[in-house]
Amino acid sequence: MGKYFFPDLVLSSFLDLDRAMLLQRGIRGLVFDLDNTIVRRDASFLSPAADLKLRDLLAGGFRVAIVSNNGSVRVSSLAGTLGVPYVSRAVKPFGAGFKRAMRLTGTGRRETAVVGDQIFTDVLGGNLLGLYTILVRPLPGREFIGTRLISRPLEKLVLARLGGRDNEGPEGGVLRAGKR
Ligand SMILES: [Mg+2]
Repeated sequence: MGKYFFPDLVLSSFLDLDRAMLLQRGIRGLVFDLDNTIVRRDASFLSPAADLKLRDLLAGGFRVAIVSNNGSVRVSSLAGTLGVPYVSRAVKPFGAGFKRAMRLTGTGRRETAVVGDQIFTDVLGGNLLGLYTILVRPLPGREFIGTRLISRPLEKLVLARLGGRDNEGPEGGVLRAGKR
């Protein structure tokens, strides 16, 4: 199985992102997936915890952008409430959306992390560009039918190789030590 499917780090939730750990790895820019990563796909507002966490990261000096394959007005309105730039209809895993996001954050490949809930869009796309990739457990909620019927069963195969999304080590599950 290709190394491009394996994230650098697995977390239960983006709420577990640790500022010091990110800085230690040289990460200055965070490119977040939207649906089922920072907000449920069927929700129009960030949870208070998610809102607080994103504001904490921004206050910590991280440059943040949202990159979503979704094209709905939700993307712009959620990004707008945080005051962060976004790329919608990003066509992940293809790289154009991530590259646009990095122009918006002003961070280079080696200092940018992708945070998302899907291997075949977020992790694969980030890895193909040489970004640091962080896989999170999807938030509960309705999913796009293609995600549910095709991507999730394939992800299970990859996750089985990883030992599962819940198999977190002391640092929150470092899977590919030495990738960088
Ligand atoms: Mg997602």
